[in-house]
Amino acid sequence: MISSDLRSGVERLGDLIAEARVIVPFTGAGISTETGIPDFRSPGGLWTRNRPIPFDEFVAHQEARDESWRRRFAMEETFAAARPGRGHLALAALYKAGKIPAIITQNIDNLHQASGFAADDVIELHGNTTYARCIGCEARYELQWVKSRFDEHGYAPDCSACGAPVKTATISFGQAMPEREMQRAAELSQHCDLFIAIGSSLVVWPAAGFPLMAKHAGARLVIINNEVTEHDSHADLVIHHDIGETLGPFVRN
Ligand code: NAD
Repeated sequence: MISSDLRSGVERLGDLIAEARVIVPFTGAGISTETGIPDFRSPGGLWTRNRPIPFDEFVAHQEARDESWRRRFAMEETFAAARPGRGHLALAALYKAGKIPAIITQNIDNLHQASGFAADDVIELHGNTTYARCIGCEARYELQWVKSRFDEHGYAPDCSACGAPVKTATISFGQAMPEREMQRAAELSQHCDLFIAIGSSLVVWPAAGFPLMAKHAGARLVIINNEVTEHDSHADLVIHHDIGETLGPFVRN
């Protein structure tokens, strides 16, 4: 059912939440736009400004690594200033109430953790951009460490332990998906009775497969997004409205 007006959509969502025992949310960049972080595909989104740098280019060329880090530093003020929005807070309230065991996210902004989810209960399919890792030995680095070396030498630093490139702890195009996270996301999708996809264009695979996996396993599927997605026809409820306005009524103090 596509809910044309916000009020009846929120009411129906409230009923589905009340009836559900285990809710699994799946979030995309749209849940964070109200916090000031642009998404990828909307007008003004990050893709309208920059072509993504694929993983093999990052590995092969120092210039690609430098450009990738310049872009990341340019976004730092935005990421550092962002605070959880109404969508994040509503999900955190349902998590605290024991309805949500864990959340699956495509986001890399750390805002679910900031809203109150334990880090282990945030399944990050595309990693996290608030810190860095060596792509060889996986040693963790803080962004400040990368920035100070970049500023000092004029190019992106390599790992001080093994010499391999250091990259934000995100999954780039062409990079393997994280195995443990993919497995946990599949288990969660198959063992919930309500799956809510929020703010994802649902075109990035394999992540976009989880809503359908949940539906096939018997869960009810809700999609909240301000534009049509390819999965809408599979959903029990589709709300084509702003996420903050839709989930705002579920925020509890
Ligand atoms: P996307 O940009 O492809 O899609 C976002 C969707 O949310 C769009 O359909 C858009 O219309 C909708 N949307 C935006 N603001 C909304 C609002 N306020 N209310 C309702 N709908 C809204 O993002 P995606 O599906 O997550 O996939 C793209 C990739 O982008 C992911 O892999 C993710 O890693 C990365 N990304 C993450 C962030 C972040 O962490 N905040 C930001 C940009 C991109």
